[in-house]
This record gives sequence, C-alpha cells and structure tokens, in this order.
Amino acid sequence: MEKRWVARINLDTLEIDYDPSFKFKCVENCGKCCRDLEVPLRDEDIEEIEALGYSAWEFVDYEKMFYRGDRFLSYALKKRPFDGGCVFLDPETMKCRIYEKRPLACRLYPFIFVKKGNLMEVYVKRDSFCPGIDHPEGESIDRILLRDYRDVIETYRRKAVKDRG
Ligand code: SF4
Repeated sequence: MEKRWVARINLDTLEIDYDPSFKFKCVENCGKCCRDLEVPLRDEDIEEIEALGYSAWEFVDYEKMFYRGDRFLSYALKKRPFDGGCVFLDPETMKCRIYEKRPLACRLYPFIFVKKGNLMEVYVKRDSFCPGIDHPEGESIDRILLRDYRDVIETYRRKAVKDRG
C-alpha cells in the first residue's frame, strides 16, 4: 500500500511536526471509501454494532479475512451485492447509518498511525479515489489530529508509558 508521511507526534510532550503542504477535507456524502475499501472488523467493532441491535451475520463477511503473514487478524465488513457499497451506507443519502459507532478502520481512514517508541508517525494513504486528500479547502493535519483523533493519541500515549514500564 502506498502511503505518504504527514505528521509525527511526540507522545511525551504532544508536540506535532507535520507536513504543512498536506491538506485534507472529507467531502460530505462522497462515500467512495464506503465502496472502495475492504474494512477489517475488530471484536470490539462487532460488539458495538451488535449493541445497536444488528446481528453479526447481517454485517460480517465471514468469507473475507485479513491476515498478517499466516496470522488471522479479522473478518471484513459486508458489502451489498447491488452496488458494492458497505451494508450500512444509505444508498439514498450516502450517509453512514451507524456513523457514531462505525468501526475503527472507518474512523481512521485515510490515515495510518504507527507507534515507534515515544513517537507516533502519521501517514496518509495514497488512494486516488478519495477527493479529500490534498483538497484545496482542506485543513492542516495538526488541527485534524487534535480535533478528531485525541482519543487515538491518548491510547498510544498510554501504550508508550506502559512499554517503558
Ligand atoms: S473517500 Fe475520502 S472524501 Fe470521500 S467520504 Fe471517504 S474519506 Fe471522505
């Protein structure tokens, strides 16, 4: 997968170095990632969606699996047969029906977070289908990280503290 570095967060000081030339704006109701991506489901994602009243068979594709090497990681979110969209994408409004409880992979898209010691590197996927990447009216990544991903940064910060014992 092609990716581009866009930021680095020091997990001790929360200082952010970033590429100021990178801008992002999610284009509302575009929904291309809801069709073009295969979304892995963590056990926690499945539990949270089931708590909304859905049964796993309605949204888990047990025939699509993610592996790292020979290690099974997860099953995928189901796509519907008529247009290849996610089963939770409303075909009329192009809105996500479970937006507040969407899987972590959907929340993070199009960013990738990689922890290296007390640093967290942030990359953006080079997906040509996503019009939000390098959008002329986009926001800088430091603002996006501090507004939308504070909880992710906090989780990584706790991991960094734990790793040091
Ligand atoms: S493809 Fe990009 S711009 Fe479109 S909804 Fe997904 S993240 Fe937003």
